[in-house]
This record gives sequence, C-alpha cells and structure tokens, in this order.
Amino acid sequence: MAALETDTRGLLVACASCGQKNRLAFDRLASAVRCGRCKQPLSAPASPLEAGSTGDFDRLVASASLPIVVDYWAPWCGPCRMVAPELEKVAARAAGRWLVVKVNTDALTDLGERFGIRSIPTMAVFAGGREVGRTAGARPAQDIEAFVQQTLATRT
Ligand SMILES: [Zn+2]
Repeated sequence: MAALETDTRGLLVACASCGQKNRLAFDRLASAVRCGRCKQPLSAPASPLEAGSTGDFDRLVASASLPIVVDYWAPWCGPCRMVAPELEKVAARAAGRWLVVKVNTDALTDLGERFGIRSIPTMAVFAGGREVGRTAGARPAQDIEAFVQQTLATRT
C-alpha cells in the first residue's frame, strides 16, 4: 500500500524504475506518461493509496479524471483486515480505470464525520467530484468490482 500524495495540480507517484517522484495531473490520470528523469513509462497506481490528510483526499476527489473507490477502515476492525487483500486485487486489476483510496477513520476523523460513516468497512465511489454510491461490509474482490461497475453505469 502506497501513501496518497498530492500537490495542487496532481497526484505524486514514485517511478518504479528510478524512484523519482512524478506528478500525474488530476485531469489526465488515465493518460500514458513517462518519468521525467529516466523516461520509463509511468504506470497508473495499481495498489490502494492511503490518504494521509483530508487535504490530499479533497484535492484528489475534487479534480480526478478517474473514479475513486474509497475504503473507510480502521486498524482495530477485523472485517477491514479481511477486505484489505481484496482491495489490493481490485486496485491491481483497475489500474488506469479507477483508483482505490483508503481512509483510516481513526486518523482522519473529520472525513468519517463529514460523510456520516456509521460502520466500517464502508466502500464509496466518487466520480465527478461527488459521491455516487456506497456500500457497507466486507466482500470479495469480484463483488467489490461488480458494485463499482454497477454504480458507475447507473449514476445520474
Ligand atoms: Zn524514473
């Protein structure tokens, strides 16, 4: 699991080849880009990104050109630990199509309160700067994917 890092213009990701931090512009997250230092292709994030601050979360959700699947979790939550490897699979298969972001509701209590998270794990889909669907409870990767695809297909 990598940390979610942003600046005002984009998502910051480390190059797998040389370690250089590169910015993926929020509005071009699905585009193919190359590392600014070693010129190797930069791949879209293929693992869940852990939000470290409300600011990072808000910037990403407000501007991202890809849908974002948010997992609200906490370290003491047994079902959350069960769903964590499922989300790793979801993130790997969804690379370039949507992002998976994890929000620790113990650490980022303001986000849990703002979105009215009553139980964890809760998974929510954000698209176009707003939440378009959510579901509570642990489930296998293929069920999470089905929920996300259905939510994106039926959003108004
Ligand atoms: Zn590089």
